[in-house]
Amino acid sequence: MKALVTGGAGFIGSHLVDRLLAENITVVVIDNLETGRVENISHALANSRCTLHTTDISQPLSEDLFQNVDWVFHLAGLADIVPSIESPYRYHEVNTHGTVNVLEAARKSKVKRLVYAASSSCYGIPDVYPTPETAPIRTEYPYAHTKYAAETYVMHWSKVYKIPSIALRLFNVYGPRSRTGGTYGAVFGVFMAQKLAGRPFTVVGDGEQMRDFVYVSDVVEAFLAAARSNITQDIFNIGYGTPQTINTLVNLLGGEKIHIQDRPGEPKCTHADISKARAQLAWRPTIDFKTGVAEMLHHINMWKEAPIWDETSIAKATKAWFTQLA
Ligand code: UDP
Repeated sequence: MKALVTGGAGFIGSHLVDRLLAENITVVVIDNLETGRVENISHALANSRCTLHTTDISQPLSEDLFQNVDWVFHLAGLADIVPSIESPYRYHEVNTHGTVNVLEAARKSKVKRLVYAASSSCYGIPDVYPTPETAPIRTEYPYAHTKYAAETYVMHWSKVYKIPSIALRLFNVYGPRSRTGGTYGAVFGVFMAQKLAGRPFTVVGDGEQMRDFVYVSDVVEAFLAAARSNITQDIFNIGYGTPQTINTLVNLLGGEKIHIQDRPGEPKCTHADISKARAQLAWRPTIDFKTGVAEMLHHINMWKEAPIWDETSIAKATKAWFTQLA
């Protein structure tokens, strides 16, 4: 078996690479190392069955890379809300056009299956909790829109060119190797660096907002289940199914907190209805929040070099949020 993982040096991708190698599957990693890090896979690259190709998916991809590939896992992409508001064209190039490049290479080399890392941000502020896959699409910012547009391309290529494909709409994935540098992003990375530096956690609003946090190893199992299933041209939510408040996260991490300004367009709650994945992929999450957070604390030194955000730097970094989404 041979698998190709785009974004394989990134947070979720690198955990997937580890898991595939453990299954004795040969793994081709494609990553432009813009946000992915070689450190995430240096141990994997010691295995002769794993190779890294430093390639940008926003350019047409060489079919040679896809030769004899059975499964394609497409996780490469640009994350984060604010930079997507500032650079929508680049997000389109990477997330949407880049996906079309991956689909074209997959089509020409006749891969057996493709699994796409889609985003639950397509639901925007939903009406229904837990939110099923059938909920209306309400993309609120370019990141969400480009990831959703790419999902429609995956489904279309799957239909027309008969590439067996599944999209997994990921909720808030956390775990070791979640981004440690760069722009202001997901809450776990921000809080881990603050904890290490003994600085207060910057809690948005009253901290009673909830997110469906799902641990990375559970997400990796969902990718494997999707690759092994016979289902095609279909979409599944992947979350834990039990949302947690930011205040709960603060309590589990332990430390002082300050409250910063609420953000326009942020959902008060994300809550995945995971009954479809449970029933049709025979997948279920296993790592509860307390266990997952304890595991993060165990690896806290990973955030040693991460930027330490405070109220002032966050206000500066999130300016576009308030001007564009208010
Ligand atoms: N959050 C926070 N402080 C921060 C960054 C984020 O309290 O410094 C909160 C944010 O309001 C949201 C949750 O953490 O409710 C998750 O934010 P993240 O950006 O990780 O994911 P998303 O909002 O896209 O689901």
